[in-house]
Amino acid sequence: MNINTNTILIIEDEPQIRENIQLILELEGFNTITAKDGLEGLEMAEQYHPDMIICDLMMPRLDGYELIKALRQDPATAEIPFVFLTAKSERRDMRQGMELGADDYLTKPFEVKELLQTISIRLAKRQVTTQRYRNQIEQMKAEIHYLARHDSLTGLPNQFFLEEYFNQTRLQAYNQSQFLPLLLIDIDILYHTKLLFEPSLRQFLLTTVAERLNQLKSLNPIIDLIAYLKTDQLVLLLKPIQNAQVAAEAAEQILDVLSQPVTFNHQEISIQTKIGIACYPNDALQVSELLAHAEVTLEHYKLDNTTSYHFYDQEILNVVFRKVILESDFLQALERDEFLLYYQPQINTKTGKVVGVEALIRWEHQEYGMISPAEFIPIAEESGFIIPLGEWIIKTACSQLKDLQSQGFGNFKVAVNISASQFREENFIQRINDIVANTNFNPDLLELELTETVFIQDLDIVKDKINELRDHGIKLSIDDFGTGYSSFKYLQEFSFSHLKIDRYFITNIDKLESKQSIVKSIIQLADSLNINIIAEGVETKEELNWLKQHNCFVIQGYFFSRPLAIENLNIFLMANT
Ligand code: C2E
Ligand code: CA
Ligand code: CA
Repeated sequence: MNINTNTILIIEDEPQIRENIQLILELEGFNTITAKDGLEGLEMAEQYHPDMIICDLMMPRLDGYELIKALRQDPATAEIPFVFLTAKSERRDMRQGMELGADDYLTKPFEVKELLQTISIRLAKRQVTTQRYRNQIEQMKAEIHYLARHDSLTGLPNQFFLEEYFNQTRLQAYNQSQFLPLLLIDIDILYHTKLLFEPSLRQFLLTTVAERLNQLKSLNPIIDLIAYLKTDQLVLLLKPIQNAQVAAEAAEQILDVLSQPVTFNHQEISIQTKIGIACYPNDALQVSELLAHAEVTLEHYKLDNTTSYHFYDQEILNVVFRKVILESDFLQALERDEFLLYYQPQINTKTGKVVGVEALIRWEHQEYGMISPAEFIPIAEESGFIIPLGEWIIKTACSQLKDLQSQGFGNFKVAVNISASQFREENFIQRINDIVANTNFNPDLLELELTETVFIQDLDIVKDKINELRDHGIKLSIDDFGTGYSSFKYLQEFSFSHLKIDRYFITNIDKLESKQSIVKSIIQLADSLNINIIAEGVETKEELNWLKQHNCFVIQGYFFSRPLAIENLNIFLMANT
C-alpha cells in the first residue's frame, strides 16, 4: 500500500461510483473528500485546495464544464490537476473538457489499475511543477535577502548587513578579549566646486572608492567587511584583534589607496578622506553606538582640513557635547546679555596715540564662565547664529564708541570682525547702513575686518559689496594676513585701508629669520600698494623694536594692552591721552 498524504476530491453524483472510487483510493492511502454535485465540488475545492480533482461530467446544479471553468479562473485553484470521468456516450464531448483545461479523462467503467495510473502520473507531474515554483520562490527570497542587505550602486553590504554581521562576530571577540575596530570613512571632493553638483560624479566616485577598498581587502586579511552607509560614508570592520593600534595601520592604508586622484570627464579629482575609528568593546557595545562615536570623531576634526584618521575617545564626546550645549544656548544668551564686547587698542608708536580699537566678543556663560570667541564663533557660523550675533556686535560697537566719543575720547576707528557667512548675506550692506544711521555713528570711523574666507564666494558679488561699502565711507581691512594661500592676490584687486599681519608671524619675529623675510616682503608689498599695516599680537619689547626698525608702526598686542571691557578702555584712554 502507498503511504500517500495527497488529498483527492471526488465529485460524482452517482453514490455508488463515488463510494467505489473513494474506497479504492483510501485503500491506496490517499486522503479523500467527496462532493455529490458540481456546486458542492466547487466549494470544497476552494475550501480545501486538494492535490487533485476527479470529476464527473454530467451533474446537477453545476456540470463538469462549468465547474472547471470556475476553478481555472481562480488562481488558488487554477493549478489543481483535474481528471474528468465520462460515460462512453459522452466521449465525443471530451475535447471541450480538455480545451477548458482538464488534464486527463477516464471513461466509465474503468479499471482500478487505469484509475491509479492516471492519478499517479498527474500527481508526479504536479510534484515537478510545485518543486519548480518552490525553487523560484527560494531564489526570489534569496534575492530579496541580498537586496535588503546590500547597496545597489556599489554592491557593498549596507548598515543592516553590517549590524547582523557585527553581532555574530562580537561574541567571538568578547570571549577572546579582543577588539573589533570599526572605521567610518568619510569621502569628499576637493576643489572642484562646480563638479560637486553632478550626480554622476558622486556615483562614479563611490564605485571607484568601493573598488579600491575591495582591492585593499583582498590584500589585507585583517579587513573583514566593507559596508556602504549613506551619501559619502563607508564603514570598514576589522577582524577581531589583540591590539587596537592595528586599526591605525589599516587607516593609513585606506588613506593611501584613496589619495590617488580619480579621473572623471578628463579632469583629475582629488578625494579628501577622513576616518573616525571606534573600537568594540571599549568605545561601545552596539554597532549603532560605535557608528555614532566614529561620527562624533569625524565631526570633531571636521575643520582640520586634511586627509586624516582619528580614534574616538571620551574627551571628544565631551567637547562635541559642549558644542551642542553652546549652540542651544545662543539665543537665550543674547536675550540675557551674556555677550560682551572687549576692545583692544591699536597704538601708533610714532605718536604714542591710540589710532583704533578692535572689537572682540566675549561670552560670559552662566555655567561655563568666560568662553573664547575662538570656540563659539565657528559654532555660531555653522548654525547661522552669527547673523543675529554679528548684527548685535556691530550695533554694540557703534553705540559704545559713540558714547566714548561724546565723552571726548574715541576720535579713532573701531574695527569689527566680519564672518564670511555674515558678509555673504544679501542685505548685509543694508544692515550696516541702518546701524550706522540709527546710532548716528560716523562711517569713516568704522572698519570691517575681513579674512580670506570671504573671497571664496563669487568674486564679482564680493567686489560689488566692497565698492558699495567704500562709497559709504566704511573702511575695510584684511585680517590674519599671511595665513591663507592667496591673500596676496586679493590685495591688489580690492583696496583695503589696512592689512593686519597675523600674530603667527609676529611672535619671536626678532629671533626668527624665516619670519623676518616674510614680514619684510609683506611690508614692502603693502607700501607699494599704499596700504597701512597693523602688526597683531605684539607681546615683547624685542618684537616691537624689530617692527619699528622695519617701518611698521601701528601695533596691537598684549605689549600695550589686552582687550579691555568698555569701562577699562575708558581708563586706558584717560591714562594714554
Ligand atoms: P582675530 O580677529 O585675529 O583677533 C585677534 C586675537 O588675538 C584676539 O583673540 C586677541 O585677543 C588676540 N590677541 C591680541 N593681541 C595678542 C597678543 O599679544 N598675544 C596673544 N596671545 N593674543 C593676542 P580673541 O579675542 O580670543 O579672538 C579670537 C578670534 O575670534 C578672533 O581672531 C576672531 O577671528 C574671532 N572673533 C573675535 N571677536 C569676533 C567678533 O566680534 N566677530 C567675529 N566674526 N569674530 C570674532
Ligand atoms: Ca580681527
Ligand atoms: Ca587677526
